[in-house]
Amino acid sequence: MIALEFAKQRILLVDDSKLNNQIMQDILSNDYDMFVSTSGEEALAIAASESIDLILLDVEMPEMDGYEVCRRLKKNPYTKNIPVIFVSAANDVQHETEGLEMGAIDYIIKPSNPAIIKARVKNHLELKTYRDILERISLIDGLIGIANRRHFDQTLEKEWIRALRKGDIISLALVDIDYFKKYNDYYGHLAGDKCLQKVGSILKESLYRTNDLVARYGGEEFVALLPATTQVEAFMIMERTRSNVEELYVPHEMSEVSDYITVSIGVASIWPGADTVSSDLIRQADAALYQAKKLGRNRVCRELA
Ligand code: GH3
Ligand code: MG
Ligand code: MG
Ligand code: MG
Repeated sequence: MIALEFAKQRILLVDDSKLNNQIMQDILSNDYDMFVSTSGEEALAIAASESIDLILLDVEMPEMDGYEVCRRLKKNPYTKNIPVIFVSAANDVQHETEGLEMGAIDYIIKPSNPAIIKARVKNHLELKTYRDILERISLIDGLIGIANRRHFDQTLEKEWIRALRKGDIISLALVDIDYFKKYNDYYGHLAGDKCLQKVGSILKESLYRTNDLVARYGGEEFVALLPATTQVEAFMIMERTRSNVEELYVPHEMSEVSDYITVSIGVASIWPGADTVSSDLIRQADAALYQAKKLGRNRVCRELA
């Protein structure tokens, strides 16, 4: 099941006039959580860090005008999907067209009737809710109920950029169930699916830092992304994870390494830099996983790059 929480949606008001911001707040603050900023610079910072659902953006502002703010929002992968409504005193087709072409979803001429503002904001936020639900569903593996490959690929790219900027190390582990083909052949495919669900759940429970991600990588393989985690730490975490899987005590009569379901794990760690790409991390973890299989399975190996 996907948990859909219905917290209050979050609106960011951007207007260099404090009075205008106050008027909008009076209209909207009963129904939504409000964030307020009086400059483009400040607005960009809030948008990038506060999970904003909708931005009401004044066009005419000194220093950075609303168009420029919108351009920058659309350039940043963290903010490009936040819907923007332009709010402007300029009632002309030219301006309105320019705003909409830039990716804004609506254009409100001020001063405007509070009931109309409320209604338009409500409509756009309803659409945002549906988009969020679809987005979440599209990132979850249908069988196992954890993040899917697509979610992993997107997160790896984001975390790679973040680690590059902050000079952090990033660790990754590939987890592969041992003798799973034999399991399927002996217990049947449905039992195989149940087993995959159990392993997926325990993997997820085994990692608890907020930025850690466990995803189904494909078939009976999982991947764990461990940002800002050294290789020694990652090795310890994955050893604990391996042991958690073993202690599920899911019987596996056909396994050649244990009476129960076990996993082999390959760990790799990289400091992102000019001469590395994110796929190096996967390649190295895969090589370590190969070692773990070769050395007898039900173990964790790490790639010493
Ligand atoms: P090893 O210890 O070397 O990893 O052996 P293995 O049998 O686990 O490896 P192999 O890659 O040969 O087999 C993986 C098996 O995983 C094959 C396939 O039947 C099974 N599998 C992959 N995806 C699913 C799935 O969604 N459901 C079920 N039930 N089985 C799956
Ligand atoms: Mg203004
Ligand atoms: Mg495999
Ligand atoms: Mg396997």
